[in-house]
Amino acid sequence: MTKLKTRKLRSSSPRRRGSSSQESLDSRIRGNDSPEGQSCAKTQGRTKTVTVWHGKIPIESWYTPGVAGEKTLMALKNQGSFLATVCGDCNVTYFPARMFCERCFADILNNEKIVGPDGTLESWSVVTVDKDGKKLKKPQTFGLIKLDGTNTVFLHKLKSQALIGARVEPVLKDPAKRKGSVNDILHFKAAV
Ligand SMILES: [Zn+2]
Repeated sequence: MTKLKTRKLRSSSPRRRGSSSQESLDSRIRGNDSPEGQSCAKTQGRTKTVTVWHGKIPIESWYTPGVAGEKTLMALKNQGSFLATVCGDCNVTYFPARMFCERCFADILNNEKIVGPDGTLESWSVVTVDKDGKKLKKPQTFGLIKLDGTNTVFLHKLKSQALIGARVEPVLKDPAKRKGSVNDILHFKAAV
């Protein structure tokens, strides 16, 4: 629940020469660590009235895959394959596919290459809360995986913890259940 409050702030040091009231107030508020914008007044030498808005702003984001990302997702859905794009000038293969090389900005949309499906685990972490900070019923392990034939890493679930450098392989949904989503990959597991 949000509530609006107006407070008088008193502080002890003199006003800086040459700064306007608003500039001074703004700089004090910017320098303040308190979410309520009050402690800043202790270092200044005058009284000011500020308006403080208490509350929380829930923010959610939707990230669209874009033209290149959609190519990767459709290849995953329709062929169960891992489609990357390649910059020949930089000798870099990107998975998921990129429209432009992130090094030289060349258009690489049509320089496609099928990579993986196995890869190497570059790093991993155990997650205990969801995106809203709520505790998960069961911790989930995520890994950064460099698919064979690529130079970039890809974040996805790991079925079990594994050592960095371990060989991993994807487990895909049944073809009939795929939707063109990154979740068409159920998880990665230790390669056999
Ligand atoms: Zn490049």
